[in-house]
Amino acid sequence: MKEMRLNNGVMMPSVGFGVYQIAKSETKQAVLQALEVGYRMIDTAASYFNEREVGEAIRESGLPRESVFVTSKLWVQDYEYDDALRAFDRSLSELGLDYIDLYLLHKPYGNYYAAWRALERLHREGRIRAIGVTSFSNERLQDLFLHNAVNQIETHPFQQQQDANAFLKAEGIVHEAWSPFAEGQKGVFVNPVLKDIAAAHGKSVAAVILRWLNQRGVVVIPKSVREDRIRENFNIFDFRLTDAE
Ligand code: NAP
Repeated sequence: MKEMRLNNGVMMPSVGFGVYQIAKSETKQAVLQALEVGYRMIDTAASYFNEREVGEAIRESGLPRESVFVTSKLWVQDYEYDDALRAFDRSLSELGLDYIDLYLLHKPYGNYYAAWRALERLHREGRIRAIGVTSFSNERLQDLFLHNAVNQIETHPFQQQQDANAFLKAEGIVHEAWSPFAEGQKGVFVNPVLKDIAAAHGKSVAAVILRWLNQRGVVVIPKSVREDRIRENFNIFDFRLTDAE
């Protein structure tokens, strides 16, 4: 599965590149590498303070705008209707783009109803191709079902989100995983169970995690600043895990 169809017909790559905690000074180079390797989705946010460098990399890559799926996110301080419209304009100007593919409410706090109405308007106006949320529980998500295409939630081997996955599937909303490697914490890359599975396929633990998520229908956006890892994290379609694995 290399692309997912969102509930409004928009196609979204199932593997993207996350740029959270990549310094401004490193972002352009990392994104250029990712695009070179073949990634066609970049996940940034106003609160990552690197939208400008993401935009520069996309332009410098020479790829047509429509071939790169760009996600950004609205930060909580802008969760009033007019503030949200202004914040969206700022993100667009930082990115140097005239539309965003996927725009998400970054946190389930504050006046997210007002912010959502602003996103719906921007979507209606064609300035965003799809709208969604991140870190929303199933219950809160129910308030914002209409037009909602994606819920980006923390998902990795130590937080598998089985219930949310079933709920989102039933509701036709795409489940996207943030921190698929648990930010590299909890000894994830040396976990014995994951290492055994990786050895059985001649792949890395990272590839096994991403493939496992992908086979569950979950979109992934791993982050790395190292070219070998950026490549490794993209090459997950040449093997298949069994149900037991
Ligand atoms: P992550 O992707 O789970 O893990 C990144 C860590 O793993 C980094 O330390 C990276 O180090 C290391 N790593 C990457 N590939 C590796 C590999 N193949 N082998 C060994 N180590 C590897 O963490 P994340 O950045 O928190 O999550 C990914 C993306 O999700 C973010 O960039 C962001 O776009 C999104 N996100 C969203 C939210 C939200 O609230 N919606 C929250 C968190 C994250 P190096 O860079 O040194 O390789």
